[in-house]
Amino acid sequence: MINVGVVGAAGRMGRNIIASIEDTEGVALGGGTEAAGHPELGRDLGELAGLAKMNVVLTDDVTALAEACDVIIDFTLPAVSMHTLKAVVAKNKAVVFGTTGFSAEQKREIEQAAQTIRCVLAPNMSIGVNVLFKVAGEVARALGDAYDVEIVEAHHKFKKDAPSGTAVRVSEIIAEALQRNLNEVGVYGRKGFSEGRGEKEIGVHTLRAGDIIGEHRVMFGGMGETLEISHRAQSRQTFARGSVRAAEWVAGQPPGLYDMQDVLGLKE
Ligand code: NAD
Repeated sequence: MINVGVVGAAGRMGRNIIASIEDTEGVALGGGTEAAGHPELGRDLGELAGLAKMNVVLTDDVTALAEACDVIIDFTLPAVSMHTLKAVVAKNKAVVFGTTGFSAEQKREIEQAAQTIRCVLAPNMSIGVNVLFKVAGEVARALGDAYDVEIVEAHHKFKKDAPSGTAVRVSEIIAEALQRNLNEVGVYGRKGFSEGRGEKEIGVHTLRAGDIIGEHRVMFGGMGETLEISHRAQSRQTFARGSVRAAEWVAGQPPGLYDMQDVLGLKE
């Protein structure tokens, strides 16, 4: 039995992850944390997730959580995840990060920690998006520079980071496939007059509205035709199930930094 702890357990993803753990054989809920002062502290985690009582309560102690669990799943905020990382390193456990919006410096810190601990870091845990990641680079290479790349993402109005971690990752994959430097060719929204589109631009555009769970569209526009790859998440369960699958998988791996392509066996 793998004991899994959830950081950010009362969040949109946290509650779905608790339900996914409850649904998965061979995995047990070892605990859950929230920010100090959170109104739900002390509440039963099963009830918090809209399920039957689990007799495990919400706390604010991530060190005790890391002590009690084999793997921690954390979908919160970059600063919170960096704090989780310290607890996981101190207790020599494994961690799955679904949080998005890490800075380059924070990513380096995670990379460094993963020399001693097992860590999965993935901006999107759905199978469909990870297949999209796999094919987007191939499509970009096959079409080449004559096709303009534009990425459009839409999420709910509460999302804090923009563009989405998924849009960032797909733009990195395409830039690499086309041998472009994303810092030079990435264009984030447009307004006003210009000489027209720069030949090698990779456009990334963010929409925020209502309760949209997550939509991504990658457009390759040529003269006379457009090829699009798109993904729409209809439920957060797709990410939650992916994170529990990642937790089960990483528990059996040697120390290292992995992504969902590793978990799903999508790497050549
Ligand atoms: P949310 O705001 O609903 O949940 C985050 C939770 O973290 C909140 O309940 C908040 O109170 C809690 N939190 C804040 N400080 C904390 C602390 N010190 N200790 C413990 N918990 C703390 O947000 P969400 O929609 O669940 O998304 C969370 C993150 O997951 C975002 O970065 C989002 O982009 C990302 N996300 C990733 C995927 C994926 O597949 N990788 C999918 C969906 C969302």
